[in-house]
Amino acid sequence: MSRVVLLTGSNAPQSESVLHRTAQILARRIGSLECASQIYYSEPWGFHAERMFANQALLFTTTLSPVEVLDEALGAEQEVGRDRAQEQVEKSLTGERYASREVDVDVMFYDDEVINTSRLTVPHPLLHVREFALQPLCEVMADYRHPVLGRELKDIYEELKGAVAQTK
Ligand code: AMP
Repeated sequence: MSRVVLLTGSNAPQSESVLHRTAQILARRIGSLECASQIYYSEPWGFHAERMFANQALLFTTTLSPVEVLDEALGAEQEVGRDRAQEQVEKSLTGERYASREVDVDVMFYDDEVINTSRLTVPHPLLHVREFALQPLCEVMADYRHPVLGRELKDIYEELKGAVAQTK
């Protein structure tokens, strides 16, 4: 049995219920949901959008391999109603790199594995520079040592918050 940690995000109008539904669908597809953080709200990252983003960290135990987890995560996004074609239209209209989306599911960690394939990078390559990822992750696994950076998540988060505060 492996432990996999996912981060869900949404800036849909009913983001809270979207994230609850996503967690249920993921539990059906991936395995037992052992722990879920609160839902945290933050400004959109990397692009402009009217609505705040909601994020939640989810910890599952699973018998699936990492790439099987990714496939189920992408399947869950579709099941919830993510429309990647519409996102492409929005990105080409705004010229931004990111677009509003119904739901996004990213793989943060899979046990202590380090994976770098064309389909999957684990630990997620940007989690350590994103407050909106670290805050919910710290609620469920603050003492976890990032297998690439070799530091506990709570320390990475504290340092990032300090750096962000200095730029304000
Ligand atoms: P996005 O459109 O930003 O949700 O990116 C989804 C794509 O990113 C997937 O099709 C994956 O192949 C790729 N990817 C690489 N690493 C990860 C990861 N850790 N979690 C989720 N998707 C990943």
